[in-house]
Amino acid sequence: MVDDTEIYLDECPPASPLGHILALRSSVEDNNEPPYLSMDSINDVTIYLTHACNLKCRHCYLSAGKPLSGELNVDDWLHILDKLRDLEVKYVYLLGGEPTLLIKRGLLRIISHAKDLGLYVSMSTNGTLINRENALQLKRAGLDQVQVSLDGPNPAVNDVIRGFGSFNKAIRAINVFKEVGIAVSLSYTVIPDNAYYVTDMVRLTERLGISVLTFIRAQEFGRARENGLSLSDELARMVINDLMRIRLTSSWS
Ligand code: SF4
Repeated sequence: MVDDTEIYLDECPPASPLGHILALRSSVEDNNEPPYLSMDSINDVTIYLTHACNLKCRHCYLSAGKPLSGELNVDDWLHILDKLRDLEVKYVYLLGGEPTLLIKRGLLRIISHAKDLGLYVSMSTNGTLINRENALQLKRAGLDQVQVSLDGPNPAVNDVIRGFGSFNKAIRAINVFKEVGIAVSLSYTVIPDNAYYVTDMVRLTERLGISVLTFIRAQEFGRARENGLSLSDELARMVINDLMRIRLTSSWS
């Protein structure tokens, strides 16, 4: 059954904040809901904190790995957050690379400064570096929502794409985030290798008690392009049909 899980298909550029914002809205009390998107101002800003990543996913849109020369430092980001507040931005979405690589090098300051400015803060992570201690630090800094990337419903599918051991570490992170009270959503980048497992992924998401799962069609960027991992229209249609079938055979609406 998919009673409680909301599924999104996302064909925006790789770092669409849509799933984060919707997950955030569904995670808070009615009387404290973050605002819906407005056409009158810039609503959300995606901040690429670093190009560094500890994984080498085969479809990585950035070909992430080592940090770029001249990456901004913490003070630069705090200044930029001040400017974003002046522009009435409501949401910031922290992305990399892997943002948690910066957890001892300013990430917590960036989050707490954004919160002091009244912004909602989401972060995307591969989850592999998360433990209870740093999850609590993220919570105390004010992180509102986190999106964990998984590209398969089990290690056999996920780890071929994201690296050995990454599935179990991501599951551990999901459970730790839930324990410390940070709202969690999942994202699944669809490539030919994992396109046949989307319904299994929905089932896993439900078992994990996660209410938002976003499917992202791999874009022609970075290693996805180098490795020829774009999704054909035929496979994309199959994915949509599979997801629609789940919807039709359950009470999900
Ligand atoms: S897709 Fe994400 S986790 Fe994977 S290599 Fe790229 S930045 Fe790192």
